[in-house]
Amino acid sequence: MTVEGMVFKIKKYALHDGPGIRTTVFFKGCPLRCWWCHNPEGQRFEPEPMALTIGGNDDAPAPEMVGRRWTVPVLAAEIEKDRLFYDESGGGVTFSGGEPLAQPEFLDALLEECRRREIHTAVDTSGYAPPEIVRSVLGKADLMLYDLKLMDDARHRQYTGVGNRQILENLEMLDGLGTKIVIRLPLVPGINDDQSQIRRMAEFVGGLENVQRIDLLPFHPVADGKYRRLKMANRMAGVKSPTRGDIEKLGASFAAAGLAVRYGG
Ligand code: SF4
Repeated sequence: MTVEGMVFKIKKYALHDGPGIRTTVFFKGCPLRCWWCHNPEGQRFEPEPMALTIGGNDDAPAPEMVGRRWTVPVLAAEIEKDRLFYDESGGGVTFSGGEPLAQPEFLDALLEECRRREIHTAVDTSGYAPPEIVRSVLGKADLMLYDLKLMDDARHRQYTGVGNRQILENLEMLDGLGTKIVIRLPLVPGINDDQSQIRRMAEFVGGLENVQRIDLLPFHPVADGKYRRLKMANRMAGVKSPTRGDIEKLGASFAAAGLAVRYGG
């Protein structure tokens, strides 16, 4: 049986989604609803219309449909097209989203196919999935880009729609399996940028064995237009990015825990 999956974007020449020059494949569908999500078109699992302009009128062009189904061989052939760039830069493919773990068979088959083709793979995930899926699928990835958001379970639930217990347990399990991990932390003003959250996270991450680095990703108000084109509420409307000084101050807590810190992806 041919395995198929839903993808909403394929980005070529990506420089911030893992080492080297990469192709990033964005899976469509995510079980979380983070207030700061930059990719709201990746949240729903089905294709959906997205207006081409904001506040359309009768003359507005027809909306584009976001999301289409891909088979593994067709998508692998698309990824393969940029092999020269991967080979020259130490790059590869990154499966992101949305949430790639929410389409485990598709992800699994793609990881297998890329391994067969000797293409480096990274998976960018929220880690919110049953542990058996994490164990079976992610052991096949060369690198995990693991997003952490908040250490406090109640606040995690408030701002993402789900608790964080499973996410933290899965991360500990992956670490125990020896998977190479880069932690990605979106820094969102007023939500997770207070020192007590950051200190708890630094302590937790600093206790893991296989974390290579933590990337601090400042919130940017870039997605407002997309929310409007999708007719979705943007809960972060009007919130500004943290300053470089704010970010560096928070980064110091991670450096003090012995972690390599990178600002930006
Ligand atoms: S986990 Fe990522 S894709 Fe899913 S809602 Fe949160 S930010 Fe968006």
